[in-house]
Amino acid sequence: MSSVRSGPEQFWGSGSPPRTGRIEYRLVRESIVRDYRRGRLGRSDVCDAQPELLRVARNLGRQTATECPICEDADLVHVMFAFGPRLPPSGRAVAPGDLVRFSRQREELACYVVEVCTGCNWNHLLSVFSVGRSAARVR
Ligand SMILES: [Zn+2]
Repeated sequence: MSSVRSGPEQFWGSGSPPRTGRIEYRLVRESIVRDYRRGRLGRSDVCDAQPELLRVARNLGRQTATECPICEDADLVHVMFAFGPRLPPSGRAVAPGDLVRFSRQREELACYVVEVCTGCNWNHLLSVFSVGRSAARVR
């Protein structure tokens, strides 16, 4: 059984900004993968990445060395979306350099890290955390 060997923080580089309020969804992920392997969930239930998410994964995603838990054929890609007052309601895909810039902004942004398999369309929210100066001041 494969597991997540590396977190997103490794891919967005060292010197990344302080992050607060991180919520991890890895336990949820493991339980979904387990249900899929036991046949309780079908492939169409878990491999439902939208075209836009796949496009972002191909263009801005960070390649990982973690094998997809569903098709076990492709390596996973991590993508990040930011949500905040001045960003579109559907969020904005984050390029690697953006995160450092976001951390200097006054307003707090919520960043969502999603893992995606561009082979079988598996996708899952990995973690949510905040960046921005107001986020850093809270804790
Ligand atoms: Zn896959």
